Amino acid sequence: MHPQKINGDFKGKNILSLDQFTPKDLSILFKITPKMKRIAKAAKPSKILEGTITTLLFYEPSSRTFGSFSAAVKQLGGQTVEIQNPQAFSSMAKGETFEDTIRVFEAYSDAIVIRHPTQGSAQKASEVTRFTPIISAGDGVGEHPTQALLDLFTIYEKWGRLDGLVGVLAGDLLNGRTIHSLIRGLLLFPKNTLYLLSPRQLRLSRVDFLSFSKRKIKLIEIESEKDMPKNAHFWYWTRVQKERFASLGEYEKVKNRFVVTKELLRKHGNKNMILMHPLPRVGEISTEVDSDERSVYLRSQIRNGMYIRMALLSLVLGKI
Ligand code: ASP
Repeated sequence: MHPQKINGDFKGKNILSLDQFTPKDLSILFKITPKMKRIAKAAKPSKILEGTITTLLFYEPSSRTFGSFSAAVKQLGGQTVEIQNPQAFSSMAKGETFEDTIRVFEAYSDAIVIRHPTQGSAQKASEVTRFTPIISAGDGVGEHPTQALLDLFTIYEKWGRLDGLVGVLAGDLLNGRTIHSLIRGLLLFPKNTLYLLSPRQLRLSRVDFLSFSKRKIKLIEIESEKDMPKNAHFWYWTRVQKERFASLGEYEKVKNRFVVTKELLRKHGNKNMILMHPLPRVGEISTEVDSDERSVYLRSQIRNGMYIRMALLSLVLGKI
């Protein structure tokens, strides 16, 4: 089942995939986001989400996404119910079904943010709830829509547009859900070209590659740094997703095949591009690059995560 399109109206909608968005929807979100930035920076209490409760239900480890959703709700005067690892610590450990857990938290909250290791779980949760929107915070190897929204916003802040861009997406393109959402976002705009740099085993699935290639985006698969374009507007580096491998041996074979170093930036980068990463990094960006002003992964990219989630929650909860 395809999730419902936003079509200019976020209120009450589940947020499961970038396929739900149009450029217009992104521009609505991006118009509100700077306002959220001002609210957060002013450190003054906001009442936008006053009286609302958002449940954060995370079946997979997370610190950043969990923390940024939690902070986003609190910045706007809302409250959270926070459950991490419910399979170990809650009634699920007693045998409760996923569906029942969702029904229980639906009764307590105005929105549920869910992260789960199994692709399709957020969709399944949205089929169980009757009046509470589900926001996916990472759905197995499927998608991570709110990460892509903040990534797109970060690119937009730098370049003032989301069309006519050249990007390099590197790392685990097969299992990386942030990649799957980001490509879906970028293919909404004309004249984008993405170089997909990965070991052969970690290319996009053929199904995804073919379906994305039918849209208005140019995808170029490469297996060596020497084929990277000189004129990229952004590089988006990712971690090889260790937890998705059947054996440690298989993971070790492909881990850190591509590492960003000063040398790589000097050889293949340009002075205006930005370097992004959804984090956590585990060696694929050398720390020597952190102080480079093109590196936004520990700076604006993280902060934008909270601002965009503030904007999204306000819209989905119909408060703005
Ligand atoms: N934090 C991102 C995710 O949850 C990226 C990663 O874990 O590599 O997908």
